[in-house]
Amino acid sequence: MNSPLPAGSTIGILGGGQLGRMLSLAASRLGLLTHVFDPSTGSPASQVTQQVTNASYDDADALRKFGHSVDVVTYEFENIPTAALDILEGINTIYPDRKALFVSQDRFSEKTFLNDIGLQTAPFVKVENSKEASDAIALIGTPSILKTRRMGYDGKGQSKVKNAAEMLTAWGSMRGAPSILEGFIDFTKEISVIAARGPDGEVSCYDPGENVHRNGILHTTQVPATITASQRMDAILIAAKILNSLEYVGVMGVELFDTSKGFLVNEFAPRVHNSGHWTQNGCDICQFEQHIRAISGWPLGDGSRHSDVIMENLIGTDINRVPELSKSNTALHIYGKVDTRPGRKMGHFNTRT
Ligand code: AMP
Repeated sequence: MNSPLPAGSTIGILGGGQLGRMLSLAASRLGLLTHVFDPSTGSPASQVTQQVTNASYDDADALRKFGHSVDVVTYEFENIPTAALDILEGINTIYPDRKALFVSQDRFSEKTFLNDIGLQTAPFVKVENSKEASDAIALIGTPSILKTRRMGYDGKGQSKVKNAAEMLTAWGSMRGAPSILEGFIDFTKEISVIAARGPDGEVSCYDPGENVHRNGILHTTQVPATITASQRMDAILIAAKILNSLEYVGVMGVELFDTSKGFLVNEFAPRVHNSGHWTQNGCDICQFEQHIRAISGWPLGDGSRHSDVIMENLIGTDINRVPELSKSNTALHIYGKVDTRPGRKMGHFNTRT
């Protein structure tokens, strides 16, 4: 894509969850249309988009039709099957591109890439069999965390390991899935930077947020984070380095651990990110609009923070708190999910503090 997409163009979004929903809403505000591809009917995004395809990610015909019906393809989750990307790539531009997806889909390639561009991570080694499991514990020490290389999210597919016996049990529970053993990091805070890059190389980073997790799921993000001015700059420079090294186009979420040795990168997500939801009420241009702008070749918007905000997720039955949350300084964002399940992200609210 060489020139900015004109109003009335259609953005194709793979995935119809809450991120797809909020991307669609942002696109509409800019006069752009969206077409959402999702295997299930009634998804959060399907309620607010102009076109929906309900088909599986291995339905080649449906993918081809979808690819031809849109002006650019993006996605709201990173575990898109390779074969689906192969089909779409032959038809249309995919932003963020395959390189970012390829690197971030696998924790081993992700951490290797980060170290190669000079960024610090937790120490890590590959674990693919029981011999490597025992060798890994000798190399990394304890405590450590065994994580599946692929498909892990919200703390799923990982176990903390305190000794060699626990390592064998943890490896057994992976059922042979290629994994990595990571050193356990004694961090003081978890910080994330939401950053955007346009096709012309323009980069814009939001103010870093401070994250608190509960049961492996993001609970709150607070901005400003309780870090010094120089840490704030360090965090932003780390994020910009990742985006530039990948020649990235779109919004990315970069998660950092604040440690006595500086920031370590935990992981990055090549998409809009839960820890960037505060931007909807803390900035004039939120992460969703910024992503749409970047992938449409529009100039990036002003992402500076005008308010202090705490974002809190509504998980499972937290959704019942909605009436009590309708206060003057609080903005609700509800995802339209009919079934409430434990651990399911149902909505979030941003409180200006
Ligand atoms: P992840 O799926 O890698 O984002 O991990 C989920 C959460 O587990 C992180 O947000 C941290 O709170 C924690 N965690 C992950 N890796 C480590 C580590 N190496 N050391 C300490 N805590 C970790």
